[in-house]
Amino acid sequence: MTEIVVSEIFGPTIQGEGALIGLPTVFVRTGGCDFICAWCDTLYAVDKKFKHHWKRMDATAILQKVDELSGNKPLCITLSGGNPAIQPLGGMIELGRARGYTFALETQGSVSKDWFVHLDALTLSPKPPSSLMSFSPEKLNACIEAAGSDTKITLKIVISDEIDLDWAIARHQSYPDIAMVLQPCNTMVGDNVIDLERLAEQMRWLVDEVNRRQLYKVRVLPQLHVQLWGNQRGV
Ligand code: SF4
Repeated sequence: MTEIVVSEIFGPTIQGEGALIGLPTVFVRTGGCDFICAWCDTLYAVDKKFKHHWKRMDATAILQKVDELSGNKPLCITLSGGNPAIQPLGGMIELGRARGYTFALETQGSVSKDWFVHLDALTLSPKPPSSLMSFSPEKLNACIEAAGSDTKITLKIVISDEIDLDWAIARHQSYPDIAMVLQPCNTMVGDNVIDLERLAEQMRWLVDEVNRRQLYKVRVLPQLHVQLWGNQRGV
């Protein structure tokens, strides 16, 4: 059977960010990414130096692990990374859906797959200038088209500064009918202790800017898991 590179499987916890914030979920985090963002908060699932911690698992083994964690009660499985879109996940989604699981996928929108159409939710997080990564509107378009009309699509963009915000607004203007979430960038990724007041300050700035610019269809959300557990893994 096709093998998938897995960094970690954990939960149930709650989705800490984006359109499904607060929803109970099990995370399947895949290993490997075609990007390496300046402020990546999951380098252990990106940088090849952590590769020896990754496992190759087939769809049955992954779902068996999810069953163990969920107590055999289907829930939402969040596919994250790294970039899960570079993994062959179509077969697992098919198998899981037949057993009652729903699937949400988080990706930067650089790789589209025909199996996006079987997702319940697709969060596309194109990376703004502060990531130091390049952006391809064509590739993002291809992801949106691959998902079709039955998948709930959200654009989620992390914001470090005004340049990022201007960039995010341009994306919003390109896709006015797609829900957009803005999220303050967690720049304390290497820190053991999170400065919650600094995060709150970033959040207040973003709220003020969104209202000052009359972006009334945009939602501003924090990373709930960072508020609750800091940069701790597996929660
Ligand atoms: S796309 Fe996401 S996982 Fe990949 S390097 Fe950037 S922040 Fe990290």
